[in-house]
Amino acid sequence: MAQDTSARKSRRARTRSFQAEVRQLLQLMIHSLYSHKEIFLRELISNASDACDRLRFEAISTSELLGDDAVLAISVDFNGDEGWVEVTDNGIGMSEEEVVQQLGTIARSGTSDFLSRLSGDEKQDARLIGQFGVGFYSSFIVASKVEVRTRRAGLPADDGVLWSSDGQGKFTVRPTPREQRGTAVRLYLKEEERSFAEAYSLRSLIRRYSDHIAFPVTMPGTASDENQGEPAREVVNTAQALWTRPKREIKPEEYHEFYRHVAHDSEDPLCHAHNQVEGRREYTSLLFIPRQAPFDLYNRESPRGVKLYVQRVFIMDDAEQFLPLYLRFVRGIVDSKDLPLNVSRELLQQNEDVRAMRQALARRVLDMLDRLAGDDAENYQKFWNEFGRVFKEGVVEDAGNRDRILALLRFTTTDSDDDEQKTTLADYFERKPADQKEFYYIVAASPAAARSSPQLEVFTQRGLEVLLLSDPIDEWVIGHLGEYQGLQFRDVTRGALAVDELPGIAPEKARDSADPEDVSALLQRMNSVLGDEVSDVRSTDRLTDSPSCLALGEQEMGVQMQRLLRASGQEPPNMKPILEINTGHTLFKRLALREGDAEMFEDLTRLLHEQAMLTQGRDLEDPGDFVRRVNRLLDT
Ligand code: ADP
Ligand code: MG
Repeated sequence: MAQDTSARKSRRARTRSFQAEVRQLLQLMIHSLYSHKEIFLRELISNASDACDRLRFEAISTSELLGDDAVLAISVDFNGDEGWVEVTDNGIGMSEEEVVQQLGTIARSGTSDFLSRLSGDEKQDARLIGQFGVGFYSSFIVASKVEVRTRRAGLPADDGVLWSSDGQGKFTVRPTPREQRGTAVRLYLKEEERSFAEAYSLRSLIRRYSDHIAFPVTMPGTASDENQGEPAREVVNTAQALWTRPKREIKPEEYHEFYRHVAHDSEDPLCHAHNQVEGRREYTSLLFIPRQAPFDLYNRESPRGVKLYVQRVFIMDDAEQFLPLYLRFVRGIVDSKDLPLNVSRELLQQNEDVRAMRQALARRVLDMLDRLAGDDAENYQKFWNEFGRVFKEGVVEDAGNRDRILALLRFTTTDSDDDEQKTTLADYFERKPADQKEFYYIVAASPAAARSSPQLEVFTQRGLEVLLLSDPIDEWVIGHLGEYQGLQFRDVTRGALAVDELPGIAPEKARDSADPEDVSALLQRMNSVLGDEVSDVRSTDRLTDSPSCLALGEQEMGVQMQRLLRASGQEPPNMKPILEINTGHTLFKRLALREGDAEMFEDLTRLLHEQAMLTQGRDLEDPGDFVRRVNRLLDT
């Protein structure tokens, strides 16, 4: 039957063009990764290892695939005279169709997103390429020609394929019978890269970059085999899954290399946690926090999760069931002893053990972050800058660990020297006056906008610290904070503020000579000018320098949430803020003097309202009208 399939196939060589994205990537890679050209070897060995993993996985259900060639291994060969290096595996191999697809396109999701981020700045792009994963195409950094001989496991020898290309835009595929299954990738090195075709440098590259590969990587040995006169093969790497080795024997560099392999990252991780769990559930986890957020961190569709192994057999990439969503930046592996080898994604979703493991792994990650925060504040800050926005979601998602998550949050406050200086809630708690019974916070579009909010004036005056929140999800998150160390969180822009009851030292109040009844009549009149744009106009003590501000109604949705809702095409519930007036301010006094001039009174009233809206980050309904009003007032 297999004979038939191959007979039907065209026996001719065919030349095709690379997908446009591949051409772009090849160009870029050759130029920007030139200083790391030796990475090609680790990429090829990594692919060979993946191919062995996949064969072993498929052999769980189709054991014939292994045939009499059951020892999966990778070999590296070279010929200095002819100037080539070759990486061979007896893994899954590729069919003709697969070769064309896998080695002619970049099928990975997010590719176009990735390409659109390339800036032309080589250093920056090199980093991005590293994150994206350079893979097979990195061969062309050192090779002028690449030949791939491969046969898919389970297909007959006649279905072997030879793929070849000089990396200049086209590749050729031709049928080539191949006795053994699996893939051999041969690189014909560029003249100036021929030094790679040499035993010593290959061996040290394998030890440095591929030691953690769980399959033996062999090279021609130095000793001769008695029978054949051919050199015996020598295993160059440790050839044991890294996570199965005792922790104390693993060097930091080994963890780092393993991380690069699982995370497709060109940088070292920030930290890792390696745990071998025994007891009712037996599993090993090796988790890493990357140093840099992937370019698609905020894309909720992008793959995430750990690599799943069962009894050391690779099962799947991106098993997202093992970590909660707010820890989706974590990379690594889980190797379970108990899950069935034929476990599917659907099964994972329903499995009790998996749920328990997810909770345990989340705690491991929190432990790891606790340790990082305690031992290495600088790197914790890095973590926070990269992933804080995602991590915060845990406040809502993982109520069981809320207190631990709260302790790991970082805030800019009115006491920070700059936006980079962050504080913990515990430190805030320590600093606050004993009689302060709430955590104060303000939400704005940016830390700068928060800092210059009029609502902060009375807090600044009394030396009270306020948390400055400006991430788009902050308002949502803070709604779920509940309390910390017995204190509630209070939005300083919401509701009426009993200024006299605030802790801290009350400043001397300037005597106000105005008749309270006149003031209240004026406020009422302002209220009627503004109509239903505000729910009330009232006098406030919370302002010292600014003439006006808006107080959110007790039940009103915060400005940031309103914005999010509008962005998603919904109208927020119609609740109006309260306009608060600093009646001691000269602008209000001016208003009082112009009581007789109806137009002027309206202009000034509207202006006080508009200013308050702008400082709170609200949009003016008619900015043109506002500008004309300001100009009119400037002109008088
Ligand atoms: P990645 O490994 O991230 O998928 P690569 O560019 O390294 O990207 O490889 C592209 C694809 O080519 C792989 O996903 C795989 O399907 C295929 N491939 C590469 N090398 C081999 C190999 N040695 N055996 C089987 N398939 C391979
Ligand atoms: Mg790869």
